[in-house]
Amino acid sequence: MGKRKSKAAKAAKRNIRVQRANTKVVCKNKAGETEKSKNPKSGRKQKPKPVTINDADQLKITIEHFFKNKINELISKILDPRKVEQCVYTLNHLTWLGIVMFVFRLRSRNQLLKERETDAFLHNLLSLSGSDEETVAHPDTMNYLLELLPVNEFESLKVELIKELIRKRFLDPLRLFGSFRIAVDATGLFSFGSRHCENCLVTKHNNKTTTYSHKMLEAKLISEHGFAFSVYSEPIENVDGEYTKQDCELKAFYRMAPVIRDLFPRTPIFLLLDGLYACEEVFNICKQNSWDFIAVLKEDRIPTFYKDALAQIRKHPKNELKIEGKEETETISWGQNVQYRQHKLHVIFSEKTETINGDKTVSNNVWVTNIIPKHNNIETLIHKGGRQRWKIENQGFKEQKCDGYELEHLYGKKPNAWKNYYQLLQIAHMITQLIVYSDLCRKIQEHSLHDSCNVPVYSFLKYYNSIRNFVRRICESFRNQAFSNLVDSLRGKIQIRFSSA
Ligand SMILES: [Zn+2]
Repeated sequence: MGKRKSKAAKAAKRNIRVQRANTKVVCKNKAGETEKSKNPKSGRKQKPKPVTINDADQLKITIEHFFKNKINELISKILDPRKVEQCVYTLNHLTWLGIVMFVFRLRSRNQLLKERETDAFLHNLLSLSGSDEETVAHPDTMNYLLELLPVNEFESLKVELIKELIRKRFLDPLRLFGSFRIAVDATGLFSFGSRHCENCLVTKHNNKTTTYSHKMLEAKLISEHGFAFSVYSEPIENVDGEYTKQDCELKAFYRMAPVIRDLFPRTPIFLLLDGLYACEEVFNICKQNSWDFIAVLKEDRIPTFYKDALAQIRKHPKNELKIEGKEETETISWGQNVQYRQHKLHVIFSEKTETINGDKTVSNNVWVTNIIPKHNNIETLIHKGGRQRWKIENQGFKEQKCDGYELEHLYGKKPNAWKNYYQLLQIAHMITQLIVYSDLCRKIQEHSLHDSCNVPVYSFLKYYNSIRNFVRRICESFRNQAFSNLVDSLRGKIQIRFSSA
């Protein structure tokens, strides 16, 4: 744990102290007025400015609060695949370099190359990794490690971190009916016009062209707060180019299910699934593992069962709930104990009528579940259960593809490399969500206020306005300021809570 700090690191720390002294928080007067506000424009009330905080502190405090030194301990246990005697940079250093590349959403290794060249970046990276290198590694050095490292290592690291969050009960507010909601769905990653590796999925088109692609099946722990933590990822790919029938989403799920069962044997799980999963084999798996589930039910997936469910609903007209809102009305009806092979399942129909600008739209949804729907749980079951499946699309895949993580960018071409980058991205996304959805930003503002200041304290979104602003500012802060003394003074003294949904 880097007791032996190098001269360069010490010098870096000194320089940063000077930088910090020059950028000290400007305290406002008792009325909360700033220099500017002494001369306000007539008729316009000046909005009080929030206190300035060291944005990057949130990264360090979050990691210490939720994981203590667990991340570094786990990384230290990984067998280094390089010739260690010839290596300058530790596994911890290179792993953290990859994680911060994704936390700051730098979009490419080339951008990381530019951003890492400051004293503060070195100081902060060493503070995270607990190592004592004299410079920040070149991204190619990180890439070399990720090409060699077996793909299960960072997957295990990610799983251990989720298990730690569950074990320490940090995620208890995310439970529904006592269980953790895990949405399962596949997403496309890369596609090429020529074969990229022997595991590519192959699609032959009518115009005689062929596409080679990679997909991933994801199990994500989700909640209505907005969380979407990757719990386990299973690549959808052909084995060694030899196959009679290509790999597919359901086959990947059949491989994934026993792994999740073994990794989380005592964790109560509630699966949120799309229409593909409404089939006997998935129902069997859920029953064997004592997992609850709610899956979209399409009429053509199991037509006889669908028909039986409709008949059951007609027989019990009292199993209906009407929810009337200002602009929408939802009628929910359900059928209990509909027999399907050896399973007794329950089916829920929802008809939602919305009026937007005078236009009426009607949407129908049907789900199949093993949880008995009743008047007192039906609303929760579909609004916090069935409908939350979309979180894996929006807060999961869409955010990772479109909001700067660049999930579809091939950070490393070799199979081990891209899979290792994929896992580091998931870990970075997890850490970012712990910052974004907690009350830490508010608590840091409170602790940064001078006694004589009368400055308002803002929620995370009011403070940064947008996630994009937050990412820009945390990156700037990491490059230009060392973690502040607040990190030490708050250690073990604050309780971070997740904002309500
Ligand atoms: Zn490939």
